Amino acid sequence: MTTDQVRNQASVQQVTLLGASGSIGASTLDVLARHPDRYRLYALTAHRQWRKLGESCLRHRPRYAVVVEAAGAEALSAWLKTHGSDTRVLCGEDALSEVASAPEVDTVMAAIVGAAGLVPTLAAVEAGKKVLLANKEALVMAGGLFTRAVAQHGATLLPIDSEHNAIFQCLPRHPDDCLAGEGLRQSGVRRILLTASGGPFRALSARELLDVTPEQACAHPNWSMGQKISVDSATLMNKGLELIEACWLFHTRPDQIEIVVHPQSVIHSMVEYVDGSVLAQMGNPDMRTPIAHALAWPDRIESGVASLDVIATARLDFEAPDTARFPCLKLAAEAARQGGTAPTLLNAANEIAVAAFLERRLGFTEIPVVIGTVMERLSTTEPHDLEMVQTADRQARELARHLIDAR
Ligand code: NDP
Ligand code: MG
Repeated sequence: MTTDQVRNQASVQQVTLLGASGSIGASTLDVLARHPDRYRLYALTAHRQWRKLGESCLRHRPRYAVVVEAAGAEALSAWLKTHGSDTRVLCGEDALSEVASAPEVDTVMAAIVGAAGLVPTLAAVEAGKKVLLANKEALVMAGGLFTRAVAQHGATLLPIDSEHNAIFQCLPRHPDDCLAGEGLRQSGVRRILLTASGGPFRALSARELLDVTPEQACAHPNWSMGQKISVDSATLMNKGLELIEACWLFHTRPDQIEIVVHPQSVIHSMVEYVDGSVLAQMGNPDMRTPIAHALAWPDRIESGVASLDVIATARLDFEAPDTARFPCLKLAAEAARQGGTAPTLLNAANEIAVAAFLERRLGFTEIPVVIGTVMERLSTTEPHDLEMVQTADRQARELARHLIDAR
């Protein structure tokens, strides 16, 4: 072996991809496949889509594949054997945490959707990994615990959410860990401008919103994403969750963050400094850019994303969000101000309401009504451990289900 080959081997990163069968999972696999010299897959995980995971196992040859559902894990194991694959199949929730914290692993992409991602993502943090965070719900529901664990275990947390990745790129670079900084004020930052596309229903009237369907909600104008985040984008809850996410990631308060609707999704967010400078990160709306950025940080690697054609883009529009038509944004801002378990309740009630909307058991405009009622009726606390977070999460889910069934 030449010295260069030895050096390359030593610097190959072993990656666990939680949520490999999803939209972020697919974009991550695409970027990783462009850099076989830098990354090897240690594990891919799915909840139940075993066949999709199986195809990825044949193509990307991870050491392990996890399917949470037992029947799916069995089916995948048999299928992989008939295809001559030597990927080992594991099953159950605990296996997610095992592959996220295994000593061989350097980097964990946290791309499970919803609260189900919290425990395995925390396992990666507690094992001191480089954690690429797409699973914003984990940070929303347990931000205090999560960020304390990052500091305590020396993990590196990098944002995948395109807005937060953009903000990270526009903030001054701290040599050790930008996200463990002392707060924005000391860096001369005046405020963050968090951009929102406005979603597929931006131009609809309050009356028209009454009749929208899950299919319409999932047809996002700029981004192709999983169903839950697509509905969140349509209600603007996604921006609310992102407001809370930004507060934790950048050690800031909600009043230092302004939400701006920017329908073209070319600017992914901005940072304003005390001297009046406003830095923006721009690019085509394609998640492979933030994924490649975080994977290689502080280096830069090819992502497969086409160059931004600024002439074809021609114009960039901005408008204020309308919280009367999209009350989820107001509910999330209130939860951010309240703190404690308020964001936990908000997130859990939203997950139940969105699932009911996707199953056509709840109208689009009833989603914020259910969440608002849960937040009014349940009291909040300052959670000292994971169990307190999980209790608040469970109570909010139970009440949201009850409210939906009792209608
Ligand atoms: P998808 O619905 O496309 O994928 C979700 C993934 O999570 C799948 O692999 C799914 O497995 C897995 N999963 C679902 N439930 C469980 C569970 N109970 N236990 C274990 N795994 C589970 O979602 P996205 O890829 O769109 O989003 C993933 C995360 O990234 C979300 O938190 C989202 O907010 C965030 N994000 C996504 C963006 C996007 O462009 N898509 C942009 C910014 C953030 P299975 O397929 O088997 O169900
Ligand atoms: Mg986003």
